[in-house]
Amino acid sequence: MTQLNKAAMQHNLHPFSNNQELIDKGVRVIERGEGIYIYDTDGNKIIDGMSGLWCTNIGYGRTELSDVAKAQMDKLAYYNTFFQTSNTAVIALANKLAEVTPSQYNHVFFTGSGSESCDSMIRLVRHYWRSVGKPQKKILIGRWNGYHGSTIGGTSMGGMKSMHEQGDLPIANITHIEQPAYYELHEAGETPEAFGLKAANWLEEKILEVGADNVAAFVAEPIQGAGGVIIPPSTYWPRIQEICRQYDVLIVSDEVICGFGRTGNWFGFETFGFEPDIFTFAKGVTSGYQPLGGVMLSDRVAAGVLQGGELQHGFTYSGHPVTSAVALKNLEILQEEQIVERVRDDIAPYFQQRWQETFAPFAHADDVRGCGMIASFKVVKAKGEPFSDPARAGSLCKDIFFGNNLIFRSTVDNIICAPPLVITKAEIDEMLALAAKSLAEFEQNVVPTLLAEEAATAK
Ligand SMILES: *Cc1c(COP(=O)(O)O)cnc(C)c1O
Repeated sequence: MTQLNKAAMQHNLHPFSNNQELIDKGVRVIERGEGIYIYDTDGNKIIDGMSGLWCTNIGYGRTELSDVAKAQMDKLAYYNTFFQTSNTAVIALANKLAEVTPSQYNHVFFTGSGSESCDSMIRLVRHYWRSVGKPQKKILIGRWNGYHGSTIGGTSMGGMKSMHEQGDLPIANITHIEQPAYYELHEAGETPEAFGLKAANWLEEKILEVGADNVAAFVAEPIQGAGGVIIPPSTYWPRIQEICRQYDVLIVSDEVICGFGRTGNWFGFETFGFEPDIFTFAKGVTSGYQPLGGVMLSDRVAAGVLQGGELQHGFTYSGHPVTSAVALKNLEILQEEQIVERVRDDIAPYFQQRWQETFAPFAHADDVRGCGMIASFKVVKAKGEPFSDPARAGSLCKDIFFGNNLIFRSTVDNIICAPPLVITKAEIDEMLALAAKSLAEFEQNVVPTLLAEEAATAK
């Protein structure tokens, strides 16, 4: 371990990390990035198969973004949007968002992150129902294993029990239903389509249980990302929409991962065939070059919020000129280079086909799946049979990938990949060849140990 790697752990508490363990294990210090590659201070060239944290969609090193950041900083580094003021950058960004979203979305509230967006969404949902004379509609329904960020509201809205435990959460009037996880939850002989309807109907059961008059919104990611790439069957979202309309419950789509092209359309709700009343975004809006998020309101919700008097909510950095200028440039690049269309028509179909071909043949890979530029498979004891400690298996597998200078992520036994949207076919081939080599190493070097351990504990 170099001095720098040790120094990284001296004063900085790392998020979602066992900091005590990291002191011994050390960290890799990433120094620069170019396209889909990042480079560490030990001189390794690493393929970033996760786009940072699902965000560097246009890849690293796009100097157009640093150019606009510098120009904006030189012109106006900061001003707020609180007291009857605005700035040219945020006006242009809000216009652009109204342009790239379907016609019914014309109002946006800006934040600094996905978590702040989810917190703001909770505030706006409750404010909306008060404004339209239904203040008793307060309950938001999320899903177990959903992820909506790490703030108090975001953690509450999400369904990560380990996060709830550390924060004494969720806050009041947030409740959860089971996720549309076909692989884990379907019954023998049940088709994905039938399961999708059943999973959607869990929402109706919950609404009836707590009383439709009390339910403000249903909040979910189109595809659960951090929860392990759970792609709902095609029947799920249309039925969810039907239920929400029937009981006058707002639909909130958390587009922090799916937004801005990841699934092959500008937004995940377009891919899955529903129309949210509100959606949250962050990550891909700036390709991670600056911290920025937001909440986009449909005209119906915006009208309610507008008639509600003064909005008692805001952040110092809501509508920050520099982050706004960078987001605008990023969206212009997505448009000019037709990156979303390219994902949909060309690169995602290729990626998904190659993903299947690469992993389906492995004895210890199962549930090989994907959508757009998100893909995953499970490491398993045998097809249909998980390891007895699935999280350990997933983590050991991911470590091998990491050791081979390929960044994938593991969630329980899911191995996850979400590369930059600008990845080329040749780079996909390079990435998957390295992934196949890494998985073969896992099967050869780690699986026998895991199986021996299982046999020993079974005795
Ligand atoms: C990452 C993520 C968030 C939180 O975003 P931060 O910028 O990390 O606060 C919220 N929702 C979803 C779906 C995410 O993937």
